[in-house]
Amino acid sequence: MRKIDLNNFQVATSETARDINSRIMLNLVRKHQPLSRADLMRRSGLQRSTVSVITEQLISEQWLREGAVGQALRGRRPTFLHLNENRAGIFGINVRPFTTHMALANLAGHFLSQESMPTPSSPDAFVSQITERIRVLMKERPHMAYEGIGVSLPGRVDLSSQKFVFAPNLGWHVEDLKERLEKATGLAVDLENEANACALSEFWFGHHNDGARNLIAVAVSEGIGVGMILNGQLVRGPSGLAGEFGHVTLDENGPKCGCGNHGCWEVYASNSAALRYYAQSKSSARNGKTKNPAHSQALTFDDLLQLAENGDLRARAALDQMAHYLGKGISMLVTGLAPEAIVVVGEVTRAWDRIATIITDVVKQRSYTHAKTRITASGPAPQPRLRGIIALVLQKHFGAPTIA
Ligand SMILES: [Zn+2]
Repeated sequence: MRKIDLNNFQVATSETARDINSRIMLNLVRKHQPLSRADLMRRSGLQRSTVSVITEQLISEQWLREGAVGQALRGRRPTFLHLNENRAGIFGINVRPFTTHMALANLAGHFLSQESMPTPSSPDAFVSQITERIRVLMKERPHMAYEGIGVSLPGRVDLSSQKFVFAPNLGWHVEDLKERLEKATGLAVDLENEANACALSEFWFGHHNDGARNLIAVAVSEGIGVGMILNGQLVRGPSGLAGEFGHVTLDENGPKCGCGNHGCWEVYASNSAALRYYAQSKSSARNGKTKNPAHSQALTFDDLLQLAENGDLRARAALDQMAHYLGKGISMLVTGLAPEAIVVVGEVTRAWDRIATIITDVVKQRSYTHAKTRITASGPAPQPRLRGIIALVLQKHFGAPTIA
């Protein structure tokens, strides 16, 4: 039960009950479509008249559409209801340190178009390039209504000012990104941290976590971000900074981190950490043997994965070391929060067969609470950040309304 927030509450009006029931019905159709009105009555427990009134309203607002007519043994044959998936389009933008991905999705979260570009070096260039692309896409589909833009960022957004405040791996400074993008495009903009976007993606679209109300996403890339959904709700904390487990100190004498601190979890378990382990093992091998033909050009994490897949022992050892530290941080999450599921997201899941046992073994050694947390890799669906940021915009219609 939630304590009533006397600084921010909403009293129940005569529309409240209908709003709640309407959202329940919308979600039932989304999940089990196609459904007849009789199915909706059975699944919701609502009376026929209530179901009928709400369905008519959802159809008139174009949230639902009527489809094929079903079979009935006697009486009127039922008309099936579907979610009107193309009622509105949502733009999802995933900003990563080097590449920015963009997609236009419908209400079912299906991508209607997708593209990517090098991440602009400044927020100014970002706003103008994105606005230009959005205008082109909107022109291509002039009959579609546009719901808004969700932006996934490798940093944190201050909840009250909506300013982008903490992004050690991107190099942008505090910026009014939301306001500027809204002004330029004329659409509502929501900013969200990328790990939170990953958690939302698993929560709304993930398959293996159906029914989980407590789910944590560990987004592993150049850094490590953690997105937490506890009791069915994204945890942001009062300022929007909750979840920065990647910057919790594992060793105060450890290597320097992009945040300014030393020995943070991400310094040991991110993609950059694995590349550092590989480089270190390479130079120590070179010290042993004077002739080493190995080139020392900048290796990417994808290259490292490829090397490991091809049987390179040092690449495998680097990945194993990264996995060991992923396990250490994950055991902190299992012990401290005991969620039903922890989902690892990122390129490293390509090596899941190799790293899963290392991670679970470390968690077994480190966490003595015996919490039954499933640790999995994110599903095969591409672009979890994009899908999650689209889910963030969708939540406004499909999430539970806030009252009291
Ligand atoms: Zn740090």
